[in-house]
Amino acid sequence: MTVFEMIIKGDIPSTKIYEDDSVIAILDIAPRAKGHTLVISKNVYPTIEEVPLDVLSHMMEIVKKVDKKMRLALKADGTNVIINNSPASGQEVPHLHIHVIPRFKDDGISFFPPALKYEENEAKEYGEKLKI
Ligand code: AMP
Repeated sequence: MTVFEMIIKGDIPSTKIYEDDSVIAILDIAPRAKGHTLVISKNVYPTIEEVPLDVLSHMMEIVKKVDKKMRLALKADGTNVIINNSPASGQEVPHLHIHVIPRFKDDGISFFPPALKYEENEAKEYGEKLKI
């Protein structure tokens, strides 16, 4: 059972800011910024590969509300909305959740590695490989 299932069942405590039939939103226990929130589907889908589109869409609806509330209540200037998708990306809990992290002008937080440069023709090759 994932830690989020235990939270949903009420077996371990959390600071809940939203709940409905299919989604909860709680404060992350180890926030990257104060107010860092996790929007979690109640059904367990490990990654976005498994989650039905209507559930993902509803999760994003709640993300929009959390973002709006962070701007109003915390005076956040922006948010990072992040899904760690599979362990290789840093996902620790295999139960789909969306991080919403409040950001402030000049807060100095950085989540991404430095930008790379494509070699000649490489962008074209990647573009071909990734064409959907
Ligand atoms: P991820 O690496 O995307 O799987 O993120 C998992 C997140 O869950 C981390 O940011 C953890 O700090 C957070 N987390 C783990 N246990 C708890 C808990 N009991 N309550 C709230 N957040 C938690």
